[in-house]
Amino acid sequence: MSSRSIRLGDLELTSLLDGYFRLDGGAMFGVVPKPLWEKRAPADERNRITLGMRPLLVRGAKLMLIDAGAGAKMDAKSVDIYAIDRRHNLSHSLAEAGTAPGEIEIVLASHLHFDHVGGFTTRESPTVIRPTFANARYVVRTSEWDDATHPHERNRASYLQDDFVPLREAGVLDLLDGDAEVMPGVRVRWTGGHARSHQVVMIESGGRTAVFTADMIPTTAHIDEPWIMGYDLYPMETLAFKRTFLREAIDHEYLIFFEHDPTIAAGYIRERDRRKYVEPVRFD
Ligand SMILES: [Zn+2]
Repeated sequence: MSSRSIRLGDLELTSLLDGYFRLDGGAMFGVVPKPLWEKRAPADERNRITLGMRPLLVRGAKLMLIDAGAGAKMDAKSVDIYAIDRRHNLSHSLAEAGTAPGEIEIVLASHLHFDHVGGFTTRESPTVIRPTFANARYVVRTSEWDDATHPHERNRASYLQDDFVPLREAGVLDLLDGDAEVMPGVRVRWTGGHARSHQVVMIESGGRTAVFTADMIPTTAHIDEPWIMGYDLYPMETLAFKRTFLREAIDHEYLIFFEHDPTIAAGYIRERDRRKYVEPVRFD
């Protein structure tokens, strides 16, 4: 097993890294005032905080990748705006995990924002963009596909058509409806909130549950219910989901994978004296 792996029943989960980027700290914490959030996430001179991009590899009946980071298609202006740092990126991470892009069989999207699915496609020449994972089927929720391909003023900057339209053109896209099982032990669960059809991924095997929470609980700084991103289109849905989910996660000791945390890839949410905290998991 790779050093970033953990066994969950019949499945092996490996936390990957597609590098780091930065987003406005205020936008990451919504109504929470800066004096509170900057204690958890210090801001740079442009008020940005550092975030990780941590796709998850699942070895089970098939080899599955959940999300794929921002990838390498961004132009210099966007690289500067988002301070994208991919010196250590997904291809390094996959090699460290003992695999390669051509071995991935299923690629699953939490949602289609660029920092999650930019890596789904690769620019081969100025006019040709191809699926990065040549032998994979790509699984996307139908209603998320509809929203991403019909963006409006509020979400247009997040949905970059080159990240996903080439998948349909290549015939590798599988649209999925409802909270379906994607492979044995892995199913999606609708959350809404961040986007109308945002989903988390529930991974269950051997009586244990791990969850890839994507943008519902993007970092360990977001484990308190009202710490909700300003980016969310439907923040009251986020709040409703977090109330239910956090109770479940604490009571049933879910192993949470924090896709955007700059340092803590995974951990258990605990509660002491009504205060929540994260016990990081050690990969060894
Ligand atoms: Zn997002």
